Amino acid sequence: MKIATLKKIKNIKNKVVFLRVDFNVAIKNGKVTEDYRIIAGLETINFLLERGVRLIIATHLGDPKGKPDMEFSVKPVALRLKTLLKKPVKFIPEVIGPKVDKAISELKPGELIMLENLRFNPGELTNDKKFAKELAAKADIYVNDAFSVCHREQASVSAIKNYLPSYAGLLLEKEVSALNKVMKPVKPLVVIMGGAKISTKAPLISKLYGTANQILLGGALANNFFKYQKLEIGKSLFDADSLISVKKFYKGKKLAAKIILPVDVVVKTKNGSPLVRRPNEVKPEESILDIGPETISLYSRYIKTAHTLVWNGPMGKFEETSFKHGTISIALLVASRASGRAYGLVGGGETVEALELTKMAEYVDWVSTAGGAMLTYLGGGKMPGLSKIVSK
Ligand code: ADP
Ligand code: MG
Repeated sequence: MKIATLKKIKNIKNKVVFLRVDFNVAIKNGKVTEDYRIIAGLETINFLLERGVRLIIATHLGDPKGKPDMEFSVKPVALRLKTLLKKPVKFIPEVIGPKVDKAISELKPGELIMLENLRFNPGELTNDKKFAKELAAKADIYVNDAFSVCHREQASVSAIKNYLPSYAGLLLEKEVSALNKVMKPVKPLVVIMGGAKISTKAPLISKLYGTANQILLGGALANNFFKYQKLEIGKSLFDADSLISVKKFYKGKKLAAKIILPVDVVVKTKNGSPLVRRPNEVKPEESILDIGPETISLYSRYIKTAHTLVWNGPMGKFEETSFKHGTISIALLVASRASGRAYGLVGGGETVEALELTKMAEYVDWVSTAGGAMLTYLGGGKMPGLSKIVSK
C-alpha cells in the first residue's frame, strides 16, 4: 500500500493548497452543535499552516441539491473553525468566481480562507470537469482529508485530481491505515454486523468472509436471514430486495458455518412490551427489535477470543430504551476487548452513537463515522476519491 503522504512533500512554503475536508456538521439556528469532525480536521490544517502554506479549505454541508440555500451555508462552520484554531478564518460566500480569486491573491503564507458549500454548485455532484478545473485553477496542490466522501464520484474529491498534484491529508491517511489493518488482520478476526441496509452490508460480509473467523449478525440485518429461512418475522423491518444478497451465504438450507445468527431475540409484542423469544416463535403481530440475552452471551464468547474486531451496525432499535440492551452490551464487549487484547474498529453513524453512550469509545482503536465510505472500502468497492492518492 502506497499513500501520497503530506508528511513527505518538501518546499510547500508559499504554495496555495486546496484542502478538501468533511466538515458536514450538525447546525441548529446558525450554530454548530457537534464539532468532532472539525476537531478531527485540525491536525492537517495546523500542519499546513505551520509550513507557511496559503490555504483554501472547502467542504460540503448537507444536501442543498446543487444550488445556493442559506440553510446549508458553511459560514457557521468557518466561525467555529476560527474559535478552534485561534486564528482568523476568512469566509468567502462563494465556491468559485472573482471573490474567491481575489481572496486567494491576498492570502499570505500561514493564512487561510474557507469557501462556501461545495454542493451549492451543480458541478460538484456530477463530477463536472469544468467545475473541478475552476476549483483547481488558483491552487498549486490538492489535499484530500475527506475520507467519508471518497466513495463518491464528485468534483472536489475525484475530478479535481486531474488538474493538481494530489496528496492524502493526515486524517485520511490514518483512516486508510486503520482499515488496512482489518483487511490484513491479526487473527482471530471477529466481525459483528447489524443495522438496517443489507444492500450496503452484503459486499462487506462477502469480502471479510474469507479472513474472518466468525461473522456475528444482529439488527434488522439478521431479519433478512430469518426471512430467507422462511421463519415468521411478523412486522419486523427487513429488506425485500435482500434475499438475493442473503442467498449466497447459504448452501441449500444450510447457512455458511462462519455466519452466526441470533439464538434468541427481543420482540415488541402486541401490547408494546418487550419479550424474549426464540427466532422461530415470533408472532405475526410482533416485531424483532433486539438480540436476546443468550445471543449476547454467545457473541461475548466469540468477541473474547478475537485479536481483531470489526463492528458495524446496531444489534437492534437501540434508540428505544427497551431494545437497547443488545447493542449496548456489544458496545461494552467490543470496547473492553479492544482496550488491550484486540485491535478494534467500530464504524457507522448510528453504531458510533451507540458506542458513545457507553463512554468507552476511547478504548476502541479506530472509530469511523465514515459509514458508506468505510463499507465500500472494506467491501472492495470503487473509491474514486482515493485514486492517485492511495495505491496498492
Ligand atoms: P450504521 O449507520 O451504524 O451503519 P445503519 O444505518 O445500518 O447503521 O442502521 C442503524 C439503524 O438500524 C438504527 O437506527 C437502528 O434503530 C436500526 N435497527 C437496527 N436493528 C433494527 C431492528 N431489528 N428493527 C428496526 N430497526 C433496527
Ligand atoms: Mg446509518
